Amino acid sequence: MFKCDYHTHTYFSFDGAPDSSPDALCLAAIERGVTDLAITDHFECNGRFDLSCPPYDADRAYEEILAAKEKYKGKVNLTYGIELGQINQYPEEAERLLKAHDYEFVISSLHNLRGAPDFCFYDFKKIFDYSSPDYVGHLFERNLAELCDSLDACDKIDTVAHLTYIHRYCAFSGNDYDFSRHKDSLEELFCKMIPRDIALEVNVSTLWRGLGFAMPDRELLALYRECGGKLVTVGTDSHSPEHIGECVDEGFELLRSVGLDSILVVRNGEKTIIKI
Ligand SMILES: [Zn+2]
Ligand SMILES: [Zn+2]
Repeated sequence: MFKCDYHTHTYFSFDGAPDSSPDALCLAAIERGVTDLAITDHFECNGRFDLSCPPYDADRAYEEILAAKEKYKGKVNLTYGIELGQINQYPEEAERLLKAHDYEFVISSLHNLRGAPDFCFYDFKKIFDYSSPDYVGHLFERNLAELCDSLDACDKIDTVAHLTYIHRYCAFSGNDYDFSRHKDSLEELFCKMIPRDIALEVNVSTLWRGLGFAMPDRELLALYRECGGKLVTVGTDSHSPEHIGECVDEGFELLRSVGLDSILVVRNGEKTIIKI
């Protein structure tokens, strides 16, 4: 029975739990029936310049992940990936990292707008209380534009992660926002991804956190499908072994409900599409 988790973090990520070793993630995957696991630690392209996070030790991560890959061969298909944040802001940093190590799977994500802090530090309660939800729309438009720029800046991207990262923080503040208001800009992004076979990630971290929606949500996934999108990846965005594989089945259910059934994974270094 196929089950994937294609967005996970070890202690090589600046925000990974101390017990989140590649070994521990593999054991958790095997225990929970995850057949395909990708380790995708953070590399924030702007991190070295704005000192927003400590450096990523690519060499040590490479050694440990490759050792785990060998150790658990035949038990879990482990893929050696990376989550590149803010590629558009420092594309030469992304290029340098991708040249140094042969990553099998590359996630593009955006945690902060150019020159601004991570969205997790925004006070969305204040934004909704004192400003207008239009400000959220303004942030999201800029977010989508920077994701488009990231696609232009790098030709090694396999998937676009947590497209509505802002949604999680709106929800934490007790507010909701209708992201489908940005149909035109979303279509523009999807139309850049689809011809290049770049997948859209369904990030289920908001499901296992009990927020009741995935990133992106059902409506946006339906829009992706309408635009001709077929390829998706699914990940828990776990930062510790305990959440590996959690709510992936709900993610699959959500995908089926909008007619999406082609999951991208990498097996033996080859991109492989699994039908669910
Ligand atoms: Zn992320
Ligand atoms: Zn992540």
